[in-house]
Amino acid sequence: MTFEVVVAGGGPAGAVAALVLARAGRRVLLVDRGAHGPRPSLSRIGETLLPAARPLLHDLGLWDEFAAGPHLRCVGTYASWGSETLHGRSHLHDPHGHGWHLDRSGFDAFLRGAAESAGAELRRAEAVPPPRPPDAGDQGVLLREGGRLQEVRCDWAVDATGRRAVIGRRRGWRRKQDRLVAVYALFGRRLPGRRTEDTELRTLVEAVPDGWWYTARVPAGRLVAHLTDTDLAHSALRTAEGFLGAIGDTRHVRTRLDAYDPARAPAPRWTAAHGLRLRPAAGPGWIAAGDAALAFDPLSSQGILTALHTGARAGRTVDLCLSGETAALDDYTLFLDRITDAYERHHAETYGQEQRWPGHTFWERRSPATA
Ligand SMILES: Cc1cc2nc3c(=O)[nH]c(=O)nc-3n(C[C@H](O)[C@H](O)[C@H](O)COP(=O)(O)OP(=O)(O)OC[C@H]3O[C@@H](n4cnc5c(N)ncnc54)[C@H](O)[C@@H]3O)c2cc1C
Repeated sequence: MTFEVVVAGGGPAGAVAALVLARAGRRVLLVDRGAHGPRPSLSRIGETLLPAARPLLHDLGLWDEFAAGPHLRCVGTYASWGSETLHGRSHLHDPHGHGWHLDRSGFDAFLRGAAESAGAELRRAEAVPPPRPPDAGDQGVLLREGGRLQEVRCDWAVDATGRRAVIGRRRGWRRKQDRLVAVYALFGRRLPGRRTEDTELRTLVEAVPDGWWYTARVPAGRLVAHLTDTDLAHSALRTAEGFLGAIGDTRHVRTRLDAYDPARAPAPRWTAAHGLRLRPAAGPGWIAAGDAALAFDPLSSQGILTALHTGARAGRTVDLCLSGETAALDDYTLFLDRITDAYERHHAETYGQEQRWPGHTFWERRSPATA
């Protein structure tokens, strides 16, 4: 079987792009290197979905099934940002209601399942970067499947491989915003004999001299993450003990772990967390969506929502281009530019609100004078 579109990457952006294209009647192959069942075991970072996702999930016809899922409500945030005191913001007055702390692997699997039900073929395979910079006429995606390399011919390729941008990185130029890295761990084991339940459903954000922390209750336990720059991150953060020690130095985040057993603390993981923009993010025969096109500093909490929106828009754009309406590509670029402008404004404003550590490298790098 030949495909009109190959979507590489089955996260929120890729799954929704494949869903939109399959519903439009296109022959779509959705490949994900980790999509091997309804619940991939690898736990994913990126867990809070903003209330503004509600209308989009409705429009995509996914709302009822999503709402019946195992996700927890997110009712707002507490932040110690700009001062030691915790300030709360509730979603009570948000026109869309509350947000969600997702079972992230389950959410991604649910979206891939929706694409499959709409007619997309789902395969476990890895998209491999082409061995040389592609020519304009090259139309195919190189896949590694069961140890074998093969090229799947297609009219269009959607790069939704997240920050790796496996296809886009050969076709565009990627601008990194800074060197932000996240060190994170999921606490799942409660203290034996403890009656206290962890029922706090607001995300907590706390700024510290070399970066910031956040913690959120998720269905599998409590996620704790420290955000700092790669060159400022202490090597002690590589071990469970070092990570616990650093949590112990926080004023607020540590109080959220009272119900969890420190002896069962997992070793932390590290991942890139800087803002990223691919330019161009689309051209004849290819288009990037989600983090592959533009990734955000997690402080924005907008990554998943943006992945859903850009995935849906990329799917519609490819469908239009396949019908000969190639001007849709320019509209897509303008759409990404508008999102990037709003994100950069908001990023500068938010970091500008923290003025307590002017001599510290992390904050100096983000001060309006040096940014
Ligand atoms: C520390 C941290 C915290 C975050 N917290 C939040 C948050 O609370 N709320 C929020 O909205 N956003 C958050 N984000 C951002 C959010 O996780 C991302 O923006 C979102 O996951 C992007 O979705 P995506 O589909 O573009 O990419 P991804 O979710 O990265 O999905 C990419 C998919 O492609 C697959 N893949 C990768 N390479 C290949 C390949 N070569 N071949 C085939 N498949 C491949 C992967 O298996 C994966 O399924 C956070 C990010 C970080 C780093």
